[in-house]
Amino acid sequence: MNGIQVAGQRTSLMSVPTKRNIFDLSPDQLAALLAGWGEPPYRSKQVLHWLYKELVSDFSEMSNLPLDLRKKLDATLRIGSAEIAAQKISVDGWTRKLLMKMCDGSTVEAVLMLYYDRATVCISSQVGCAMGCSFCATGQMGFTRNLSTGEIVEQVVYFNRWLRSHPHRPLPPIQRGPRYSGKKAEAGQTSAPRTAPQQLDESAWHTPDYTLSADQGHAVNAITNVVFMGMGEPLLNYKNLWGAIRTLNSPQGLGMGARRITVSTVGVAPQIRRLATEDLAINLAVSLHAPNDELRTSLVPLNSRYPIAELMRACKGYFEATHRRITFEYVLISGENDHLDHACQLGALLKGMLCHVNLIPLNPVPGTGMQATPREQVYAFQRIVEEAGISTTVRIERGVDIAAACGQLKVEEEPHSRRSSLNPELVRAHVQVDLSSQA
Ligand code: SAH
Ligand code: SF4
Repeated sequence: MNGIQVAGQRTSLMSVPTKRNIFDLSPDQLAALLAGWGEPPYRSKQVLHWLYKELVSDFSEMSNLPLDLRKKLDATLRIGSAEIAAQKISVDGWTRKLLMKMCDGSTVEAVLMLYYDRATVCISSQVGCAMGCSFCATGQMGFTRNLSTGEIVEQVVYFNRWLRSHPHRPLPPIQRGPRYSGKKAEAGQTSAPRTAPQQLDESAWHTPDYTLSADQGHAVNAITNVVFMGMGEPLLNYKNLWGAIRTLNSPQGLGMGARRITVSTVGVAPQIRRLATEDLAINLAVSLHAPNDELRTSLVPLNSRYPIAELMRACKGYFEATHRRITFEYVLISGENDHLDHACQLGALLKGMLCHVNLIPLNPVPGTGMQATPREQVYAFQRIVEEAGISTTVRIERGVDIAAACGQLKVEEEPHSRRSSLNPELVRAHVQVDLSSQA
């Protein structure tokens, strides 16, 4: 026998987790565990401080805990369950993609995107995705399983550790790239990021002792924003998603403000309604991609279950409950959903709603036959939506050497995967950056 049965699933013996992942525990659960061991209340505060403020990766580093307690913690819990199987850094150095191997051998990807003044991590919520959107690389993988709360949290913790030891100290902007918000590009404009790539050698601008003058700004040494735009549909892993958001937000956890956390959903209307009842008002991004049901169902199969009218009601309810402006994501696919009539329909659909539209030229996925909308058509589409009074941005690609765009994440090692997103020959790497939000 080379495997054992765990919760109805066959799992390799090597991969059976023997200890619980401490990141699966909320601060309150950790406190309860330690209280159950007869520890005084301040112990859990100490442990949480070591975990989320000092970002230690081993209990032995928790130097103000009694040795016996460190040993007991180590015998019972693990600090994280993932191994880093591979890392890719974009040529311009501003994007890092991580392949994380979970203890059952499942792999997911997380992407760090550095900006002049912030660091955003795009994280996964599931291994694969069951939604099967026709243009999405992750959708092609099929669904393997949900990530646990701890597996979600540790994606952020990993990059926080990395930034702590490699503070991001960009040189001041050299060249202002084009701003696409509502404007047509001038002839000759390129899709360069606002800050031109500094050096190809990352050590040149991640050097910890680099001396900055005041006007060069502060180093970014922690994750400032989290977006759930990696692999999977977050709202179909609600419990673990929310557990992770709590830990990210908790002052005893990573202490990130709710407005720095964005969940992107394909439009699971009942879960949007549930999200609206939570006491934390996080940002919501809704992947719309089409202004009418027929077209949307052809791109996003879930639309047949939750059609646009129901989705819009849920979105309006979310806005009323949270006063958070919703972002609608619209991937522009040549000849599919980029007709100017679609732009008019989109404008009519969203008119009067306090919302924002992100227009995203498709990152082509091999095998789909779909192509990105040409740039001129993107601007024409954008102008029409803006004329309806809706603010828009066009995301443009950043980094073309690693396959790291949100929605482009796919892992060859997964049993269901047919192609590798780590192979730049197979999936062009696009990391999209909303230029206007950097200003
Ligand atoms: N499942 C969630 C979150 C993950 S996908 C959702 O669908 O919203 C994150 C974003 O990437 C979504 O807006 C998704 O539509 C987009 N995306 C997927 N495939 C893409 C592609 N090939 N090109 C550009 N964006 C894509
Ligand atoms: Fe899943 Fe989102 Fe990709 Fe659709 S776009 S298949 S919901 S990850």
